Amino acid sequence: MAARVVSRPVSASAISQWDIETDVLVVGFGIAGTSAALGAAEVSGDVVVIERGGGSEGTCGGLLYLGGGTPMQTAMGYQDSVADMYRVLHAALGPGVDEAKLRSYCDGSLQHFDWLVECGVPLITGPDEEGTPLATPDPDGFVQVGAQEYAGGGLVWTGGEQAYPFNELAPAVPRGHMPRDPNGTEDLFEGAVLKCMISAVERTGVRVIYNTGAERLVLDDSGRVVGIEGRRDGETVRIRARRGVVLTTGGFIYNDEMLREYSPLLVEGAAKLGHGGQDGRGIQMAQLAGADAIHMDAADATLVTTPHISFIAGILVNGLGRRFINEDTYYGRLGTESVFRQNSEAYLVVDDDIFLESSWLRPAWASDSLAEIEQQIGLPDAALQQTVDYYNLYAGKGEDPLFHKGPRWLKPLNPPYAVLDLRNRSMPTSAFTLGGLHTDPGGQVLDVQGQPVRGLYSAGRASSGLAVYGYCSGISLGDGSFFGRLAGQTAASDGAGE
Ligand SMILES: Cc1cc2nc3c(=O)[nH]c(=O)nc-3n(C[C@H](O)[C@H](O)[C@H](O)COP(=O)(O)OP(=O)(O)OC[C@H]3O[C@@H](n4cnc5c(N)ncnc54)[C@H](O)[C@@H]3O)c2cc1C
Repeated sequence: MAARVVSRPVSASAISQWDIETDVLVVGFGIAGTSAALGAAEVSGDVVVIERGGGSEGTCGGLLYLGGGTPMQTAMGYQDSVADMYRVLHAALGPGVDEAKLRSYCDGSLQHFDWLVECGVPLITGPDEEGTPLATPDPDGFVQVGAQEYAGGGLVWTGGEQAYPFNELAPAVPRGHMPRDPNGTEDLFEGAVLKCMISAVERTGVRVIYNTGAERLVLDDSGRVVGIEGRRDGETVRIRARRGVVLTTGGFIYNDEMLREYSPLLVEGAAKLGHGGQDGRGIQMAQLAGADAIHMDAADATLVTTPHISFIAGILVNGLGRRFINEDTYYGRLGTESVFRQNSEAYLVVDDDIFLESSWLRPAWASDSLAEIEQQIGLPDAALQQTVDYYNLYAGKGEDPLFHKGPRWLKPLNPPYAVLDLRNRSMPTSAFTLGGLHTDPGGQVLDVQGQPVRGLYSAGRASSGLAVYGYCSGISLGDGSFFGRLAGQTAASDGAGE
């Protein structure tokens, strides 16, 4: 086996002098790190953040998954409740959801909304003043934000809430919350939340030190984490954290060795979504200090079939020419199903009516004859024809007995047909990892016996958060900020008053 680049913990007794001392050290300055720094600063005035990159490397969009009747939902006339939010997320993010974390997140969602607004995230309440600056109107009346459907007033349908099975669990309400520029001019979608949180940290007096990477943890004689040893400008740097170290170093999609070990289907099966800083080093440093890491095979894999939303009216088939999912569900569910259960083999079959509405994707195959298409792709004889016949039989009646696609998307497919090649080699699903350090809801890192690794905390994609074997857009910024803040608060309270 290849040698690991991550170093074992060093003993505090071997360190004669610390370069920096603080109460709480936050490692990594993405959404979880900014929130951890703010949370820690609410409790202690002495907080330091180190970030390996020259600025925050965090790449993210701008959607936050929140609910339970937020001011944005209420202003747009959507009625949500904590119970409905919990029910939908429990089904969407599992199996394997940490129920205590999910309960805490749903119960705290309204308060978290207010906190984000206090931090300066422009979650503006009310309808759009002049259209929707970032959205693309659709001739059928649908409006898209990115590849998702806009619900108005800064809200986005993000996790398949309108689709089966979630629409049977609770009334469909949008929970993707998008920051909006009060002047309606600037594009606030990409990276907006993180930018606002960085500014909020800058206002607190928390010290942020860039170009400084943690390389190993420092333990005292009792095994408690008391700091880190790292590198800054080629020099070794040692930082003591009197109360706690919070690891918010992101996931490991950029570490192929870890992917091969934990989630091998992602090595060839998906393109990486994120940034090179997500190399799993933080997770491995903690593992070497006794931390448990869980759900390490889990990932969000996105299969975007909706550059134009009308493509949902087509059918997705696998390498056997069979449908395998309702096409109107969240694109993360499509991708995860395709990568993990269909051998990354997916084709989208549309007809002329659907295809003519979009020019973005090129069909790989087109013909009046499904038999010919089967031959061209190499699908089993008659399989696709049977699939289309069966689909058409019920689509004409507005039904989908197999996968329950919503009636709004159901119509029989007629020749000529076009097929989009969504296999990985042609259109890779983009993925990031969801597994990570095992933490309790307060951010305390746990060992394999479920006992605390004292002095060590974590949040964001370095930890296993809300999303396990399912995902909804907005949940990473949501749980990263929510549990990041909590982890910072818990770390700063650790040993306080002793
Ligand atoms: C294009 C794109 C769009 C997205 N859109 C959304 C969205 O709209 N909503 C949503 O919820 N999610 C979205 N996501 C996912 C989400 O952005 C990430 O999952 C989330 O930002 C991860 O946050 P984090 O703080 O855990 O980690 P990161 O943002 O990865 O931050 C970790 C930081 O730690 C630093 N670091 C790593 N190791 C060390 C070390 N050893 N020492 C010091 N520093 C270290 C890294 O340089 C990095 O800056 C999107 C992702 C991408 C790529």
